[in-house]
Amino acid sequence: MLSNDALTYLNSRMASLQTDRVEPELAVKLRDYITKTDPEKLHPIRSEDFRKTLGLSKYPAVTLLLKSVKHGLMDIDWSTCCPKCSGVTHHASSLNTVEEASFCPMCDVGFDLSVDENLQVIFSVSENLIPVPESVRNSQAMAHDHGITGSDLLNNAYFRHNFSNEVVSEDRGLKIKNITLLFTDLKGSTELYEKIGDLNAYRIVREHFGILDEIIGRNNGTVVKTIGDAVMASFSNSEDGLNAGIEIQEHFTLSGKNPSVVIKMGLHAGPALVVNLNGKIDYFGSTVNIAARVQNLSKGGDVFISKSIFDDPRSLKYLRKMPAIFRYKAKLKGIKEDYQVYQLNRKK
Ligand SMILES: [Zn+2]
Repeated sequence: MLSNDALTYLNSRMASLQTDRVEPELAVKLRDYITKTDPEKLHPIRSEDFRKTLGLSKYPAVTLLLKSVKHGLMDIDWSTCCPKCSGVTHHASSLNTVEEASFCPMCDVGFDLSVDENLQVIFSVSENLIPVPESVRNSQAMAHDHGITGSDLLNNAYFRHNFSNEVVSEDRGLKIKNITLLFTDLKGSTELYEKIGDLNAYRIVREHFGILDEIIGRNNGTVVKTIGDAVMASFSNSEDGLNAGIEIQEHFTLSGKNPSVVIKMGLHAGPALVVNLNGKIDYFGSTVNIAARVQNLSKGGDVFISKSIFDDPRSLKYLRKMPAIFRYKAKLKGIKEDYQVYQLNRKK
């Protein structure tokens, strides 16, 4: 049972949440979850149970949890977990106080943090609503949940847009074992500007950014930045990145609605460093460079992918849909050996 104070707090926070594009039906489910779940299971929230009860897949569940934090319904904790025993070795209330390296006294082992492997994000219902039960407070081993990693937040568009204070501190970087990066660029944009004028071209470029943003978000990714007419986006896995890439090209080439927009596209996945560039989360390292160069091979309207994307078993169902796949050995600037790339085409 909620106290009167807690109930007042809940009502005001729920009202605030609903101004943040949360469907009324989903808001009701969230309210029920907070008020009807065993308090032990709200400190912390069991992410699998949360997803199933609210009927959400992972990405929208993470978005809803983040909105709940933003509007004061929940608290967030970044827990570093030991790779051996998965015990929590370090807590941080924000990404910029997460430590790059940690030590587990139980296993007597030191380890480097990687945000997609041993940085867990734990959500709990605000103590203004449901106090931590004595049984949880007294238990030595804090229950933890391995459902949501740091990578799930970094690749979430709501997180990027609304948690701008959540960055890596400026002088360092955090490792990520695997991130899928998608790069696009507009083909022949100089000619386009000359043909229709800067103002019209700007309108078209803005519109195309909007479409990319929507398709990338719908496929569980986020735009990291735009560079001129180019877009860099990130995803937790190749499957989502590849599906977004194919959908973008289908939208622009098959709809015939935007004949002046021809997009070059490339994808690559691998390890990277999560860094802070001008106060925003960005990525650094050879995976980023290679992804940009793979995009540069694109002829426009196609999708170029590296071997790491092609070989990922989860890519298979999308590759099967492609009428034509060409394999190339390409020279990439700054890389000695020929690089294996694949061109996915709608037409043979
Ligand atoms: Zn350990």
